[in-house]
Amino acid sequence: MILPKLKITQSATIEINSLALKKAEAGEKIYNLSAGEPMVNTSDIVRDAAIAAIVSGRTHYSPVAGIPELRQAACAWVNRAYGCSYGVEESVVTCGGKFGIYALCRALLEPGDEAILFSPFWVSYTSIIELCGAVPKIIQTAEKNGWKPTMADIEKSINSRTKVLILNNASNPNGVLYTREEIESILALTDAHDIAVISDEVYSGLVYEGEFASCGSFPKYKDNVAVIQSCSKHFAMTGWRVGLVFANAEIIKCVASLQSQSTTGTSTISQWAAVSAFQNAEIIIADVKSAMKERRDLFISTLNKIFGISLNPPASSLYIFLSLKDLRVENMDSKIFCQKAMEEGNIALVPGVAFGQEGYIRLSFGSTPDDLVEALQAFGRYLKKA
Ligand code: PLP
Repeated sequence: MILPKLKITQSATIEINSLALKKAEAGEKIYNLSAGEPMVNTSDIVRDAAIAAIVSGRTHYSPVAGIPELRQAACAWVNRAYGCSYGVEESVVTCGGKFGIYALCRALLEPGDEAILFSPFWVSYTSIIELCGAVPKIIQTAEKNGWKPTMADIEKSINSRTKVLILNNASNPNGVLYTREEIESILALTDAHDIAVISDEVYSGLVYEGEFASCGSFPKYKDNVAVIQSCSKHFAMTGWRVGLVFANAEIIKCVASLQSQSTTGTSTISQWAAVSAFQNAEIIIADVKSAMKERRDLFISTLNKIFGISLNPPASSLYIFLSLKDLRVENMDSKIFCQKAMEEGNIALVPGVAFGQEGYIRLSFGSTPDDLVEALQAFGRYLKKA
């Protein structure tokens, strides 16, 4: 038997979802607290645009960098929403934000290079960096410091091999939001060391408190910054697979060439649907965000009541990053905890260790309100028994 040469593991979130799916297929009830998406329907505006694209025969290959209408509409949106100044040549449409991150890492990293991440980090960053033959340089942060590193922490981790820093603002798994001042300090530091910043901003539309600041909105640092955007989260379009990279024209050309030799870009139908999403961004995002804010508030108040804790709501995204100690669970690592919760209680959670932070679990409030309350009640019953 021929065996694969590539050493790569499945993303931990996908592993737990697959186990949950298997149980569901066998007819078991699953309490899903691991959804990585807002469980709301994609807007009718977007669905109608996709149908119109199919009916009118817009079903052929698109330019590898994306249809110009989408690049235009996406640039117009980031520019008006976040004060950026991207032109069409500084944008490329990708197969979701995830392929955008992969393509950027391929474009910016060589084997042996280092890429800085703040822990907890989104699960795929480390694997993507390693796929490039590069090394993730992880800076640990702590809940008591708002999950943010100090400038000294970042400076200490820089050396001659450091080529990239990935910033996730707003953040998965803990909803952390960086202020304009904090971002400016990070950009000044990375600029001084010729380090490119990949700013993953796929949750920018799901900010409930505070103001979102884009790394792409600082003219002084624009050339060294690449912004990742996506239709997945704030337009509730995860299955359509439309993401965007905004960066200087040379990086964009490189990403487009990589696509021309790999994915050939994303579905043309999805791209036409995404044009209407960006053209109606304010209305669609307001709807998704208000649904998610309601779910967040319900989730936090139910969680606090059931477990007798006083957790504050996260400022953004779709997740709560909860310490096992808050649940009075001691001496159990997060992966074992989540495996047992699925095996014995049919509760889908994601272990903190998948995000580089042991002792925590991630709970999502993306599901419907009824499902969330039911799942939290089941989780409460499970923990009482365990
Ligand atoms: N970045 C973060 C922080 C995410 O949580 C996700 C998805 O969960 C992505 C990027 C990729 O999203 P997509 O590829 O659906 O745009």
